Order: sequence, then structure tokens, then C-alpha cells
Amino acid sequence: MPVLGDPRAPEPTVFDKSRPGRRAAALPPLDVPAVDPADALADVELATEPPLLPELGELDLVRHFTRLSQRNHGIDIGFYPLGSCSMKYNPRMSEAIAGQPAFRDVHPWAPDEAVQGTLGVLAELETWLCELTGLHRATFQPAAGAHGELCGLMLFRAYHEDRGDARRTVIVPDSAHGTNPASAAMCGYDVVTVPSGPNGLVDVDALEGAVDEQTAGIMLTNPNTLGLFEVEIERMSRLMEDVGGLMYYDGANFNAICGRVRPGRMGFDVVHLNVHKTFATPHGGGGPGAGPVVVSERLAPYLPAPVLARRDDGTLFWDHDRPQSIGRLHGFHGNTLVLVRALAYLLAHGGDGLAQMAAKAVLNANYVAQGITDVLPLGYPHHQPMHEFVSTAKALKAHGVRALDVSKRLIDHGFHPPTNYFPLIVDEALMIEPTETESRETLDAFIVALRAICAEAAADPDALHAAPTTTPVGRLDEGRAGRHLVLRWEPAAGDDG
Ligand SMILES: *Cc1c(COP(=O)(O)O)cnc(C)c1O
Repeated sequence: MPVLGDPRAPEPTVFDKSRPGRRAAALPPLDVPAVDPADALADVELATEPPLLPELGELDLVRHFTRLSQRNHGIDIGFYPLGSCSMKYNPRMSEAIAGQPAFRDVHPWAPDEAVQGTLGVLAELETWLCELTGLHRATFQPAAGAHGELCGLMLFRAYHEDRGDARRTVIVPDSAHGTNPASAAMCGYDVVTVPSGPNGLVDVDALEGAVDEQTAGIMLTNPNTLGLFEVEIERMSRLMEDVGGLMYYDGANFNAICGRVRPGRMGFDVVHLNVHKTFATPHGGGGPGAGPVVVSERLAPYLPAPVLARRDDGTLFWDHDRPQSIGRLHGFHGNTLVLVRALAYLLAHGGDGLAQMAAKAVLNANYVAQGITDVLPLGYPHHQPMHEFVSTAKALKAHGVRALDVSKRLIDHGFHPPTNYFPLIVDEALMIEPTETESRETLDAFIVALRAICAEAAADPDALHAAPTTTPVGRLDEGRAGRHLVLRWEPAAGDDG
């Protein structure tokens, strides 16, 4: 019999708990003349039945959602080394600042004169991002990294078409993030894939063979999805320059290099940053993000309109007079509160603090990689990883154990699993990103857990196949969960309430 307060006890849906007439809040009595909707909205087709909504008292409602919240793993509960996602701790200070009414309660239609403070935050953030990337101007419209990629590629297209030189292809290395080829295809480009060499870096000879006058540009994830810094960027940049192609820097992994090197100095024209990975907004969970795109001078005229501008008297306004702009990609000012958090984080750290953040992200990843290298070696051991690394669990296949089993067992040890089976170029990949915010004790505990699981794989492989066993639900059929989504509750057949 499950204990009622036990977060692992089965939790019925809010509809199953509904009882007719229960209410969580009471409205005051009507003190204005009643209007019959049939008169007021005579031309509007109205539903004749009220919607089927759950009816619960406030306490039952609070308990329901609090229990559900405890059934999930979160960064505030435990370590979350989900490679590529930078699941680091986001300081409460940024939350407190973004939650101030002066930012939080701004109406999206408020005129520019009334929101000079918010526009000032965006202007200062733009200065920071230009400084950190070594580029010229930024847009805050993209709502996430992939949206920023689409924006950047639309800028590529606008730039080339402006020169009467529409181009067909975009080059994407096979060690790029999966969103890169998707964004290029979505923008109407043919994707040319360039393989990695045996050292895990872009095969620049193969790149040379793939570049021609149809090349609009290259999208480079750096550090790449193996966590490796691409050491031949200068040569790539020269190859692009020779054919008039542009360079896109996928900066979602910016916590590895922030405050240390600037993509603009490496020849890149566009960088997108994942503010919701690098600068104090939690990633995941479906909340809003922001993927600002920072560009070189030659691409600035095409940025999404409007762009922030300053009058002679110092006041800020949105400049809509941008004849070469690719147009709008987001309503209003973008996801502003995410951007407020980012500036709070940047100011709190300062330039030196950001450089330290990057150093610690790299140190932590290498510390964990070293701690497990004899049981879960790097897939590409030729170069030292940066902020994340990809181990291979292929040696465990001899015991019938796969990377997924290792990940599921980690849940029983209280850790969120790493990213599995990505990138595709590593067999039985475990992509681990500890992030800079974890203590040495946490990293040690994680290393101990992984080593114990590898020992268990040889001694008792079935224990791994059965994992997780300490959670509200056990091993899920992930394929089925993804393919047969049931997102809406409906009364069971024959049930009339
Ligand atoms: C997360 C990530 C993206 C995509 O960002 P979203 O905000 O999830 O759209 C792109 N590239 C890399 C390298 C990433 O890690």
C-alpha cells in the first residue's frame, strides 16, 4: 500500500481526482449588470457545452502538482551531466533580478519611451555579446539555438542574393550538432556533409574537395560534438574566403571558450549563443530560451528588423527602417526576461569570471574523463576534450550490456543519465558534460557510480537490464513513448464523468 505522501506513489491524473462542484478559488459576487453572451456575441459561434475541466479544491491541486514535481529529476535535486545541454546551476540572483516588476510586468505593446530601462538592458547585453564574440551587432529575436541557426542561414542567403549570387549548398561536418543540417535544409540549402578524420576533427582535405562556387558557407560546431576544439579553423576560413563563402559558428558550447577566444577573430561571420545553456537560464523543461545571433559588419544590414538604435539625445528605440532586413523572426522584443538573466549573469561574473567559468567547465570534464578512462575510454582519444567528452561503452557489449543500460542504472544511483548514442560517430556513445558548477565531491561520486556500474555489468548484467528500479516507473519503451504520444486525457469509454 503506497504511503500517501510518498512521491513515488502512483498519482492519478487531475481529471481522475476531479469531483463536481469542488473549487480552488471563489470569485467575488458580480457587481456589474449581467450580459447575455447570446446578445453580446450574436455573430460569434459559441460552444453550447462548457469545456470539460477538472474540479478540485486548492489543497488537492497544490499537492497534485507538488507530487508530480518530485517525480522528476532536476538540477536542483542532483547532478545532470546531459552532454551538449550544459545543465548547469543557474544562480538565483539572475532569477531575482528578472523577477522584478520593472522587467516582469512590461507590456509587450508599451511604447519605446516607456521601456527605456528594458531597452537599456538589451543594448548593454548587445555590447557584451559583441565583445565576447568579436563581432559587430546582435539580434535578440531567435528563441533558441536552432532558431538562431535558421536566422544565420537566412542571413547567408540574403547576403549572397544581394550580390546576385544565389548559392545552393551549405557544408556541415558530421561532428556538428544535429540541428545544423536540419536548419540548413529548412532554409532551402542542400547539405554537404564533410567527414571527421580519425582524430575526431574535421577532415580539412575532404572539406577542400567539397568547397566550390555553389558553397554559401560552412556551419561549424566548436568545440564539436565530441567536445574537441577544431584546431584547423584558420585553414577552413581561408578555404571559405577563396570561394566567397561565409562561416557560421554554432556557439551553443560557448561555456568552453567564453572569455578566452573570440570567433570573430577566427573569421566567422555569424555566431549563435544559447543563452539558456551558457548564461543563467535553465535549459530543458520546455521553458522559454533565447538564441541571440551576433554578426559581422557585412551581415549587419540583413539582421531581423527591428534593431535597437540610439537617438542623439541618448534614448533608445526600435529601428524598423531596415530595407535589407530578412524580416521578423519573433514578436515584440524577443524573450526579454531570459535576456535580463543573461546580463545579470555577465555583470556578476565580469570578464575574468567568465574566463574562469570556461576553465572550470574544461577542468571538470577532463577530471571525470580521466576518472573513468580505463572502463569507459574516450571514443576519440587523440585530442584532449574541452567542456564535454564522449566515452564508448562498447567493451561492455561482451556482457550483453549497452550504453543505455549504463544510463538507466545511473538513475538508481541518483544521477541523470548522460546523452546516449550521440554523436553517431562513436559506437555506444555516452556524452558527458559535468559543467563548471559541480563540486569535486559530486564529480567523485559520479565517477564511483560509473565504475561500480561497469563492474556490475560483468558480474550481474541482468541488474542493468532491469534498471531503473528505484523510480516511480521502471524501464520505459522509449520508442513507443515517442511514437504513440497520448497528450490529452479523455474519459474512459462508458465513463460519463
Ligand atoms: C543545444 C544545441 C543546439 C540547439 O539549441 P536549442 O536551443 O536546443 O535549439 C545547437 N547546437 C549545439 C552544439 C547545441 O548543443
